[in-house]
Amino acid sequence: MEENVNCSFCGRTKKDALVLIAGLNGHICELCVEQAHDIIHSELEDNSDSSEANSKLGQLPEGITPKKINSFLDDYIIGQTEAKKYLSVAVYNHYKRISQQLKGEDEVEIEKSNVLFVGRTGTGKTLLAKTIAKMLNVPFAIVDATVFTEAGYVGEDVESILSRLLQACDYDVNAAEKGIVYIDEIDKIARKSDNPSITRDVSGEGVQQGLLKLLEGAEVNVPPYGGRKHPEQRMITINTENILFICGGAFDGVEKIIARRKNTSVIGYKSQENAVEDPETLLQYVNHHDLKQFGLIPELLGRVPVLTYLNPLTKETLVSILTKPKNAILKQYKKLFELEGIDLHFTNGAIEYIAEQALAYKLGARGLRSICEAIVTDAMYEAPSMDKVERLVIDKEYAKREFSKSKIKKLDEAA
Ligand code: ADP
Repeated sequence: MEENVNCSFCGRTKKDALVLIAGLNGHICELCVEQAHDIIHSELEDNSDSSEANSKLGQLPEGITPKKINSFLDDYIIGQTEAKKYLSVAVYNHYKRISQQLKGEDEVEIEKSNVLFVGRTGTGKTLLAKTIAKMLNVPFAIVDATVFTEAGYVGEDVESILSRLLQACDYDVNAAEKGIVYIDEIDKIARKSDNPSITRDVSGEGVQQGLLKLLEGAEVNVPPYGGRKHPEQRMITINTENILFICGGAFDGVEKIIARRKNTSVIGYKSQENAVEDPETLLQYVNHHDLKQFGLIPELLGRVPVLTYLNPLTKETLVSILTKPKNAILKQYKKLFELEGIDLHFTNGAIEYIAEQALAYKLGARGLRSICEAIVTDAMYEAPSMDKVERLVIDKEYAKREFSKSKIKKLDEAA
């Protein structure tokens, strides 16, 4: 070998290298061989990791039980015991069903356990769905049923529900096929009359019809970017058989249907007990028949077999929501101030005041954040430029004063 050859990768000369291996048009030294070996090794490991992760996707974590799922939900969601229990069992069965398919044991085919939540807005329906997806580490998408229309009308086709799911997992079809979709405001696509022959509400019913095949499990052609703005886009086929659909709606007025059913079921007599029942608590009796009367078609109801309800939030629940969950709002503010070296403290009086305002303005838990924001914004504005403030106590008086300056309060006074 000539003396002046060098490694074609690192440039070391024959003199510096221990070994220089000759190839057709170049050379490689022993150090570059070792480095190349490491690169190949780690690449192969990465690939096998991701294929392992992919095959684990949609499988229940080792040793999980419905009770453990429930206790995970407890960390984030206050109350709503019934809904949590139903969701835990449904999710557990859903993923058992998938693992049964993977094993090829199909003599008894387990049907899908799509879920339907009935409960006022801001009671935690979306939060439940989001939390369960986080726990299972599967792709998750939230869609609003009101934006869908029948094919041919202005709006989005139901297939674009799956576009959102695809977008949530970077177009990984395999992952999307094991994901969870939350369809909000499902009550808004109810047909307006229980009797289809009288007033046919075409658009609502059409959307319900469109959802059937998605919910049940079918091969669906999905426009990857959704909508109708990209007519040239190539469709992606997605099988929805293992996608868990969770639907939610407030179903305003369903209490009346429940009350009517409960009263008439006492053979013609108006039961005293039922007559005085608080409409707030009636939701616990909701069944598929009531929702059919509300305007959901029986075929759709048949595809969401797990039906459960969420309680309206009381002042006590709102107080717990403010303070207890892992990422409770007040804990977040405390953290923000801690980063400035300030110990922030809310008195019980202030916390109750915030909950009362959320109730008074009918904002539910959704409003807690904006009320808190109105109360602490001034302090957050001042704090970074203040010296030697170590502790800030927000009591009821402080909260009241700050809140009365806020837009929410002013808006109310103007009304
Ligand atoms: P919905 O879907 O029922 O309209 P969300 O789940 O979107 O209501 O709730 C809105 C927000 O209110 C959530 O992000 C959460 O911060 C809070 N929230 C509502 N209900 C609960 C609850 N039961 N426990 C904890 N937080 C809640």
